[in-house]
Amino acid sequence: MSRENYVIGIDIGGTNIRIGLVDEKLNLSAFLKVPQKSVLKGDSLFQLAQFIKGYIKEHAENKTIAALSIGLPAAMDKDRAIVLNAPNIHGFDGKNVKEFLQQEFDFPVFLEKDVSMLFYYDLYNNKIENEGIIIGCYIGTGLGNVISIDGKLVIGNDGAACELGHIPVWDKRDICACGNAGCMETYTAGKFLQQLQQQRYPDVNIEELFEKKSLDPEIESYLEHLSIPIATEINILNPRIVILGGGVLSMKGFPRKKLEQYIYYHARKPLPADNLNIVYSEDSGENGILGSAIYARKKLEYTTV
Ligand SMILES: [Zn+2]
Repeated sequence: MSRENYVIGIDIGGTNIRIGLVDEKLNLSAFLKVPQKSVLKGDSLFQLAQFIKGYIKEHAENKTIAALSIGLPAAMDKDRAIVLNAPNIHGFDGKNVKEFLQQEFDFPVFLEKDVSMLFYYDLYNNKIENEGIIIGCYIGTGLGNVISIDGKLVIGNDGAACELGHIPVWDKRDICACGNAGCMETYTAGKFLQQLQQQRYPDVNIEELFEKKSLDPEIESYLEHLSIPIATEINILNPRIVILGGGVLSMKGFPRKKLEQYIYYHARKPLPADNLNIVYSEDSGENGILGSAIYARKKLEYTTV
């Protein structure tokens, strides 16, 4: 048996499940991407365990597995065991996902929010020391948020912290995916952009929206709205580094400078506005798997990265 050991990293997204083997030097192998709904149906926890067992049989039968580490789009309890609410995953709500999977495998199982896994990858990829206050804002379908203080993720008293997307907007009443009315996410994330494209720019492909329309007043106003939760968190926390990422920011021609101008405009002067250190996440589609592996290694107290 090889002395090398691997973390099985899994990134469960709303659309796809990505899985891979990550060695101690963070090399990724046996990468696989499958539609989420082809696995997570019926008794979806059982199905997930079967999927992982099948993956191990095919790709890792003679390998030493150090841990299984899963990032998922879900609100979780503070022990990162029970999924409280996962609107995009069938059959996970209220289940002790960690306990179930732990009974199925003889190596440690770790769960975290998907954005936290991305955040760990971004720290590693940008050689950022995890010290002081660092925030991450990931704008995809929703508005994901991570806060790290002195090397520790802020998870709150119940595990429910960092819900920047669900801060309420004055006088707004549209119903959010979380069930509340008037959440920030409803006006700043990918879903809103999709509605804007359908209503205002039906002739433009959504991937080309920024490339073709970034000078339009509607897009300009979208960028200002997006800057508000980010500037709000900056004004509360005065972070050392702000990591910005997610599918919306990865779109072709996304006007980063304009967003930064609005963030600066809404940040308090002279500080923290004059000392903003913004880093962009570069999404390769593998970040979630690699971030899961980094998280697991950290949990196992290895010091390989
Ligand atoms: Zn909400």
